Amino acid sequence: DRLLAPEAGSEEAALESALRPRTLDTFIGQQRVKDQLGLVLEAATARGRAADHVLLAGPPGLGKTTLSMIIAAELGMPLRVTSGPALQHAGDLAAVLSSLVPGEVLFLDEIHRMSRAAEEMLYLAMEDFRVDVIVGKGPGATAIPLELPPFTLVGATTRAGLLPGPLRDRFGFTAHMDFYDASDLELILARSAALLDVPLAADAAVEIAGRSRGTPRVANRLLRRVRDFAQVRADGHVDLEVAHAALTLYEVDEIGLDRLDRAVLTALLTKFGGGPVGLSTLAVAVGEESETVETVCEPFLVRAGLLARTPRGRIATAAAWGHLGLRAPAGSAA
Ligand code: ATP
Repeated sequence: DRLLAPEAGSEEAALESALRPRTLDTFIGQQRVKDQLGLVLEAATARGRAADHVLLAGPPGLGKTTLSMIIAAELGMPLRVTSGPALQHAGDLAAVLSSLVPGEVLFLDEIHRMSRAAEEMLYLAMEDFRVDVIVGKGPGATAIPLELPPFTLVGATTRAGLLPGPLRDRFGFTAHMDFYDASDLELILARSAALLDVPLAADAAVEIAGRSRGTPRVANRLLRRVRDFAQVRADGHVDLEVAHAALTLYEVDEIGLDRLDRAVLTALLTKFGGGPVGLSTLAVAVGEESETVETVCEPFLVRAGLLARTPRGRIATAAAWGHLGLRAPAGSAA
């Protein structure tokens, strides 16, 4: 029940792909990003040149992959997909770049996880559409310049802060994606319900949207769980009562915290007295990777006003104690 992307080839990945909007107009919410991106794409089309490189930054599940597909579609160009972890050697990147067709859109997911060597090659490729392929080793090594077709790089990252300055500077446009408002999530749910042929009452959509952590991927996932419940325990219609019962069964609380969010918060409060505590210690306490806690749980806990990141470590706010029904000890950071 985590926010991380579904495994490639799974039924969920297929459903996720079926629910993806294909055009900027049908992409719901993120109005500022849409307006800015629309202009970048229109200008590139008018000039008949490859569009500027675009960086999409924000927590998982907000639509970065979807937007990259839309960028390619709006430019009328093919899309190549790769990711930072797949580019461990500069040669891996050179192979991808040299096989692009002119104007192609290259989606580089998790760009912050690329190797240093690949990153350095990328600087030059982004700026001059050229790479230097090093042949040989030691003093006899030579750099052979290789011209590349013009392309548009779309980088996606959950950790924009980790990108080195020179890489960040080479993107002509950075879209900071934020959590969605409940009203946008209601529209996304209504659209998905129509595509999945699920009868969804308006008040049930409000209920599901309110528990979706501001995240379309979570909204779509909850919709599918609620649909299962409606089919097995009711007559297939998703009304408020069905939505409520299903979400209670799946342990999604009234503000959308799931089990891992609550585990992080509970550990912070009960094991560390509300903090401050370091990220890695907190991650060990809940048996998760630091990166998952930092990029998946924390942004929403911060946004919900339950956790604060301070230079001394993570601390729980007064609201966190209240949310879990606990009382802050006298003298705690909250
Ligand atoms: P990750 O970086 O973890 O892969 P992501 O930010 O790339 O996540 P997507 O895979 O693009 O997220 O989107 C997740 C799901 O949410 C998809 O099924 C997509 O259809 C849906 N979705 C995302 N944004 C929107 C939107 N604005 N309108 C409608 N559906 C959306």
